[in-house]
Amino acid sequence: MGTHQSNRFDIAIVGAGFAGMYALKQALDSGRSAIVFERGDDVGGTWYWNRYPGARCDVQSMEYSYSFDKQLQQDWQWTERFAAQPEILRYAQHVADRFHLRDHIRFNTVVASADYQDTKNEWRIKTGAGDEVFAKTCIMATGCLSSTNRPAFDGIDVFEGEQYHTGLWPHQPVDFSGKRVGIIGTGSSAIQSIPIIAESAAHLTVFQRTANYSIPAHNGPIDEAYAADIRSNYDDFRERNKQMFAGFGADQARSDLSVFEVSDEEREARFEVKWQEGGLGFTSTFGDLGRSQPANQIAAEFVRDKIRATVNDPQVAELLCPDQVIGCKRVCVDTNYYKTYNKDNVTLINVRDTPIERLTKTGLIVDDTAFDFDMIIFATGFDAMTGSLLKIDVTGREGVKLADKWAAGPTTYLGLGVHGFPNLFMVSGPGSPSVLSNMIVTIEQHVDFIFTCLDFLRSSGFTTIEAEAEAEAAWVAQCNSIAGETLFPTCNSWYLGANVPGKPRIFMPFVGGFPLYQSICEEVRTANYKGFHLAS
Ligand SMILES: Cc1cc2nc3c(=O)[nH]c(=O)nc-3n(C[C@H](O)[C@H](O)[C@H](O)COP(=O)(O)OP(=O)(O)OC[C@H]3O[C@@H](n4cnc5c(N)ncnc54)[C@H](O)[C@@H]3O)c2cc1C
Repeated sequence: MGTHQSNRFDIAIVGAGFAGMYALKQALDSGRSAIVFERGDDVGGTWYWNRYPGARCDVQSMEYSYSFDKQLQQDWQWTERFAAQPEILRYAQHVADRFHLRDHIRFNTVVASADYQDTKNEWRIKTGAGDEVFAKTCIMATGCLSSTNRPAFDGIDVFEGEQYHTGLWPHQPVDFSGKRVGIIGTGSSAIQSIPIIAESAAHLTVFQRTANYSIPAHNGPIDEAYAADIRSNYDDFRERNKQMFAGFGADQARSDLSVFEVSDEEREARFEVKWQEGGLGFTSTFGDLGRSQPANQIAAEFVRDKIRATVNDPQVAELLCPDQVIGCKRVCVDTNYYKTYNKDNVTLINVRDTPIERLTKTGLIVDDTAFDFDMIIFATGFDAMTGSLLKIDVTGREGVKLADKWAAGPTTYLGLGVHGFPNLFMVSGPGSPSVLSNMIVTIEQHVDFIFTCLDFLRSSGFTTIEAEAEAEAAWVAQCNSIAGETLFPTCNSWYLGANVPGKPRIFMPFVGGFPLYQSICEEVRTANYKGFHLAS
């Protein structure tokens, strides 16, 4: 730890992923004392925990990086079009070293509770070890995908083989060679890791509840000329990306045309171009894929045909064909995913109608059939958006618990503040673009908003800021109404909390796009934080 001797700080930050690190940098640059608490023993958050084979970013490297420091973005050289986890972790570590952030971060420290002291207008943060610090402002940079979801199968603890969760992957390499491996789940982490595990496992059995759409990454070494071109005018590239719906993809063609405005041949040709381009841009091939079910089904059928053309066994191919709206669950990006099912050592088991019954000492049981494994991998995702926040016992003004306030689902103002919780900010909270965006872009926007706001409070003599109840209710209504005009809420996704039994179903991210969201935040700022109650 650094030189700060007292246990009182201007700002306490929970989490040392990209959000917590940038918040710390801003705090220090603005002359505030700050402390960060981090459960892990290093920075990086997502990229510290998710070390499973094949873990990789779905947003291109030149876009998935901080923009706050011009020299940093000139100096850092990415090696691949889509960076892999080790490289992104090295980047986070480099940023921590370069800006001397580690001195202010308490690693291996879980925050257990945060409670607002009404009489003193400050937050008391308690760690799992019982230490306390006090801070005027608390920033929750706890991450949207940082609380792993481990399903409550019967017998989960009786399995005697090796067991891993993709989101809590060990730091030492895991050896699959010669082993019978079972993997549960077919979301993004599974889709990235299955082709690699299948290369060395004796046999890999994949248990699929819901088939997901995956688009090839066409990953490879970064195109140096392209990277140099971006670096020659990085600010312009960043600005153009901020005008994009999800904060990335400015250099990729997108169309506002309807699927129905072009001939069958042109439609196929356009889908094919986006398929060959690879990555998440596929869903921007036409402008109506996110709003019109018939348009969406045409895109979905294009992907299903690709699956059928890739997978040799027609029955396996059909099982791998998703039937939900494309995009209402997170679209995945892969390298050789569908092709892997042509290998003799890979089996797909459908657990949609006959779920996994229980785990046993030697494996698991589905539909009265026993499967024996040396290793089981849980690729079962996260208690998204609210999981990590609600693991902290957060108590606001007059003893109100965040867990009680959110019992029927999260409510926030702009995904940044909550009524009843003064001087508490969330980065990428529910009600903000968060997981539907290039998250580094939206993290920087949130952190900048928070610090501009803190500067305003300081210069205007205010000591507290709190979302107004009416503003919060109106924001929740606005978020729901925008989501209702899209196809997003049509399937059981983690965006809705549907992957965690008992979790209230609320569409959590803001779906109006980053440009709209940013302009709303700007309006709020220029109207002296309209919708927030400020007090001295
Ligand atoms: C496998 C995977 C792939 C992804 N790919 C992309 C992508 O392609 N593009 C994209 O934009 N986003 C992607 N994301 C989302 C990714 O989470 C964000 O891009 C970004 O890294 C989030 O940063 P963060 O700092 O907000 O949260 P995190 O990186 O999750 O960091 C939060 C930190 O808070 C810590 N923490 C939480 N609770 C406590 C507590 N009580 N006490 C102490 N510490 C605590 C956690 O340990 C964690 O280190 C991906 C996520 C995953 C899991």
